[in-house]
Amino acid sequence: MKKRAVSVILAGLMAASLAACGSSSSSGASTTAATEAATTAAGLNATFPPFEYVGDGTDTFDDITSNEGNVTGFDVAMMNEIGKRIGVTVEIEDMDFDGIIPALGSKIDVAATGMTITDERKESVNFSDPYYDATQSVLVSEDSTIATEDDLKNASAIGVQAGTTGETVARGINDAATVSVKSFNQAVADLVNGKNDAVILDQVPAEAFATSYSGQLKVLDGSQFNFDTEQYGIAMPKDDEVMLNAINGALAAMKADGTYDTLVEQYISSYSAE
Ligand code: GLN
Repeated sequence: MKKRAVSVILAGLMAASLAACGSSSSSGASTTAATEAATTAAGLNATFPPFEYVGDGTDTFDDITSNEGNVTGFDVAMMNEIGKRIGVTVEIEDMDFDGIIPALGSKIDVAATGMTITDERKESVNFSDPYYDATQSVLVSEDSTIATEDDLKNASAIGVQAGTTGETVARGINDAATVSVKSFNQAVADLVNGKNDAVILDQVPAEAFATSYSGQLKVLDGSQFNFDTEQYGIAMPKDDEVMLNAINGALAAMKADGTYDTLVEQYISSYSAE
């Protein structure tokens, strides 16, 4: 009932009855002290720098009460800021990417994990307004001769993270060669150690991985392969209009007052591998 508890809380907040509303979804209790802030569990997969990754522990976030493993990045900062604005504290849940949508509404209340808004996903979840434009790209070793889609058709191992749009793209090009694993860290490690010929993943994370393995990897731009433009949205349970409106309202306000741009600058433009 975590989802329902959060909706009720958000409804209460939107009705401006702040003081009367207190609940902690993490404890499962339906009522707690009125002063205790509501909690929302935000799911992500922390192998997607600079949006979410395991940091060195120096980043702290006021509205995040639980973040085992020092997960940081743009989405974490964005959820911290949204939590502040709608009056909930956030708990970060690092999980497998392909387990995130099934967990929405039970283990987690929202997902902020560079998740592309797709028609298929929209059948089971709600998405916030888009918050970031993206495209797939191809990560290869520095000395690779792969440069075109035909080269990918002849590749023997194309690494992807299970459940991603990168997996869909890879299977569309060369299903037999697609090697699906649970994390991009693994797919990229298998590229560096020579098991994969290429990894298909979102371009900004591809560039972040290329900086962590400096001199060993290069990013082939998505435009070379005519990959579509994608947009990231925050995912949440489908029937929760109250949460959807609260999150969209906070996002719009962050864009209007410059906070959104500040976070982009701080976490994406200034990213350096930790
Ligand atoms: N944007 C891609 C997708 O939604 C990858 C997201 C991710 O791996 N965190 O499938």
